[in-house]
Amino acid sequence: MDIRVRNIVKDYGRTAALEGVSLDIASGELIALLGPSGSGKTTLLRVIAGLEIPNSGQVFFGDEDASFTPVQHRKVGFVFQHYALFRHMTVLDNIGFGLSVRDSARRPPAGEIRRRCLELLDLVQLSGLEDRYPAQLSGGQRQRVALARALAVEPRVLLLDEPFGALDAKVRKDLRRWLREIHDRTGHTTVFVTHDQDEALELADRVAVLNKGRIEQVGTPDEVYDRPGTPFVFRFIGESHALAVKVAGGKVWLAGRPILLSPEDMGEGPAQLHLRPQDVEFAAYAPDALPARIISVRRSGPTRRAEIRLSDEQDAVFEIDAPAALSVRPGEERPVRILRGRVFSGD
Ligand code: ADP
Ligand code: MG
Repeated sequence: MDIRVRNIVKDYGRTAALEGVSLDIASGELIALLGPSGSGKTTLLRVIAGLEIPNSGQVFFGDEDASFTPVQHRKVGFVFQHYALFRHMTVLDNIGFGLSVRDSARRPPAGEIRRRCLELLDLVQLSGLEDRYPAQLSGGQRQRVALARALAVEPRVLLLDEPFGALDAKVRKDLRRWLREIHDRTGHTTVFVTHDQDEALELADRVAVLNKGRIEQVGTPDEVYDRPGTPFVFRFIGESHALAVKVAGGKVWLAGRPILLSPEDMGEGPAQLHLRPQDVEFAAYAPDALPARIISVRRSGPTRRAEIRLSDEQDAVFEIDAPAALSVRPGEERPVRILRGRVFSGD
């Protein structure tokens, strides 16, 4: 089931939570809504679900305008960060809950509900735990039961709001892979909310980056990481630093020197150069190298991360990933060369 979100505006009194959001989600796609806290992710998910009525805008499920379809008829499955399971019910009864409360005309027979729930329990790799109570499960197992429960009602769309947010890092990582596998097997159209960029990049087919109630960019993980469309996306995804530069005469100038970047169709004037630590290298003295001094050095996984300051531009402080084998020490003078980066106009 494909979903089209059109010009959604939603405010809560004086707070504007969504300021005109449009998004196309393809059938079978796993899309992540990524953004900082308060950017409107949960509100957008709740609007898609029908739990929240927007001030204006529309939501289409396939060709059907679902804008006025109440939540119980939208056929969506949910998993929330703290969507507590029913404590007094076994795992199996939790999974079957949505089916067992249907009116008699649409309710499958008890044996069929049990069969379907056991199948889902197998899908989420918890076979054998059907008679346990939620208190007898780990946090990760509980969220897997919550997913099985969401899938039991055969939803057209699966909506997950930071489902692994309360779990520790190792469990989160395992569940990411596991969720991706389940998604590939079941093929549900899935919207996954997270504020964790690693989670979004690793899990999703596409990522929609939200900021202050607007979508800044939608793209594959490669697109949003390698070609951030806005300064916000550059800052929010991956590590980066911004340096004040100037565009003049078809060149980008930093610390009074032209650097190896062509300004993409940019007007002359002040601009910001955004760099990742992998975008700069220590260089021998060369015409395009910039004199710099090392402020600090620390080991960062396979690389050596150096914080440096340009000698001719005291405000230009940024980080470089150098090979671990390279010996660099705080206080040393080392010229650097900027290999790539992205220039956005304005101060
Ligand atoms: P996110 O999920 O990205 O953290 P939310 O969608 O929860 O963001 O919130 C977006 C904005 O809307 C925030 O400023 C938040 O404070 C506000 N907001 C969310 N829900 C409500 C509510 N029920 N009442 C008032 N303001 C709300
Ligand atoms: Mg939220």
